[in-house]
Amino acid sequence: MKEFFDPKKEAMPHEGRKRYFDEKAKWIVGYAYKNAPGVKGWLDKAGVNPSQINCVKDLEKIPVLSRSELFDFQRANPPFGGFATVPVGALSAVFISPGPIYDALGTPEHFRMASKAFFAAGFRKGDVAIITFSYHLVPAGVLLDVALKEIGVSVIPGGTGNSELQVQIMRDLGVTGYIGTPSFLKTLIDRAEAQGYDFRRDFKVNRAWLSAEMLPLSLRETFEKDYGIEVFNGYGVAEFGIPGGECSEKAGMHIPEEVIIEIVDPATGKQLGPGEIGEVVITSLIEAYPLVRFGTGDASYYIDEPCPCGRTSNRLARITGRIGDAIKVRGMFITPKQMEEVVSRFPEISSFQVIVTRVANRDQMALKLELGEASVDKEKLLEPVQNTIRDILKLKMDKIDFVPPGTIPKEHKALLDERTWD
Ligand SMILES: [Zn+2]
Repeated sequence: MKEFFDPKKEAMPHEGRKRYFDEKAKWIVGYAYKNAPGVKGWLDKAGVNPSQINCVKDLEKIPVLSRSELFDFQRANPPFGGFATVPVGALSAVFISPGPIYDALGTPEHFRMASKAFFAAGFRKGDVAIITFSYHLVPAGVLLDVALKEIGVSVIPGGTGNSELQVQIMRDLGVTGYIGTPSFLKTLIDRAEAQGYDFRRDFKVNRAWLSAEMLPLSLRETFEKDYGIEVFNGYGVAEFGIPGGECSEKAGMHIPEEVIIEIVDPATGKQLGPGEIGEVVITSLIEAYPLVRFGTGDASYYIDEPCPCGRTSNRLARITGRIGDAIKVRGMFITPKQMEEVVSRFPEISSFQVIVTRVANRDQMALKLELGEASVDKEKLLEPVQNTIRDILKLKMDKIDFVPPGTIPKEHKALLDERTWD
């Protein structure tokens, strides 16, 4: 068991930890520069030589690489844009996140990082867990599946949707652990109760590891107080796997030793201190895929106070929103670029805006459309627009409204996030 908690690393004293990460920062930048042509190109373009990087603080000299820049590099030089140091055949799996972006996560270190997060959240041999993340393309399902099995947990590959069947499976098999989004857990509980069950009495679910969506504090309390489920927040990033997860203290997500996480001012790329909200920027210390200073677009802050669990890493607070233009809806990133691509296929559409709200703990996405000409048959347009959105965003638009010309202001955000999280 102890192999998923290595006190030499996870409980190393503060000074030793600082030295560990400073040495790792220096090493990985040098290694990536030599072995990953994408990283070399990125540093060369910025006029940064690896000899200038000797500690974590020095990482500030390297510009933050955005998701859309990584996408462009991958497009120009498939599959990994020169950011992986091994060929596809050397990886046990390659995942594809929306974009598409190819995620070179099939290494033992990536799976181990996820196992550590589950172990910290108290998952053990004998637990029966259902994973309700997608098993297709994106990393979540398979990555977490393998990671849980490594600990000895029995895994039910539930996948997304099928809530009625999932409720039945959870009851029939005595599922004790839930892995998925907070909103889908709520859906399953509501579904069970609508069928006449008392969730607390009739189900054995006592532990939930929630990720891919912001976890509202009120919903966390509902799960814990009303349903007796211990809730753990996990941090998943398609390009890295699981660079954070809560321990038994449930007060911030421990950052594993396989990554360096900086919280930076998105305008300057400079590192911020504990408690200051900024963009989560991650450097992978995994040789096969040494992404350096990748900007996740997630907003958070870190806590550096000692944790009673014994782990000495900084903890990442819950993700508080999105920096920049991409936003996460029902666990998937959507960007203005994707919507522009949708609209570009319909010359009839002259202007659009997506409005994201949250109703009954579920993200709702509404699309407003303005047409160039009033004579266009709106009914005929609905289905192809909806289908194109599904193809490109992998999400369904809850509502599409045609609004009179001039309704959408000239200067407007293509994606308007109106959700609140308290
Ligand atoms: Zn802890």
